[in-house]
Amino acid sequence: MNDSVRIHPAVDAGFSPAQPGFAGGTLACRCTTDTVTVDIGSQVAHNHVCGCTKCWKPDGSLFSQIAVVGSDKVKVTANGDKLKVVDDSATIQRHACAACGVHMYGRIENREHAFYGLDFVHTELSREQGWAPPEFAAFVSSIIESGARPENMGAVRARLNDLGLPPYDVLSPPLMDAMATHVARKSGVLRD
Ligand SMILES: [Zn+2]
Ligand SMILES: [Zn+2]
Repeated sequence: MNDSVRIHPAVDAGFSPAQPGFAGGTLACRCTTDTVTVDIGSQVAHNHVCGCTKCWKPDGSLFSQIAVVGSDKVKVTANGDKLKVVDDSATIQRHACAACGVHMYGRIENREHAFYGLDFVHTELSREQGWAPPEFAAFVSSIIESGARPENMGAVRARLNDLGLPPYDVLSPPLMDAMATHVARKSGVLRD
């Protein structure tokens, strides 16, 4: 076991399975006053830990934890005036609390993108229990760009496998296949 390697606070001690019939919850930023809240009106899908440099991570965490949900299920319910888009040029427009820095939701505005209609959210910001747990680790090699030691990557990948989170250096095969299928349909290579 490689349990000295810390991946993310929500997964380091293991995690529970999704609760059948779970219907969502409320995400809250870390401000103690004028807290930004976002209601999520369904269970999430494709929850995973992500090593990219753009997703919001808790302090000291190697990875973020992020899941997708239909944009129509995401509603800002308090203090939305504090939200600012982190990077206008990014594919995912991450709406962050300008006071505490927590990303409340990421939205794809490009209608041509394979994941248009989906938002990216951090279920750890909710007090409700029963969210679908992470299934894999994405953009694992990218943690080096945030300062992780290259020589420790073997231990990191071993720990991810111990936790049942297969490590990938981009996205998981089903998500990569979904993106390639979208491109092939648009170009006409794939017709059904
Ligand atoms: Zn805040
Ligand atoms: Zn990421």
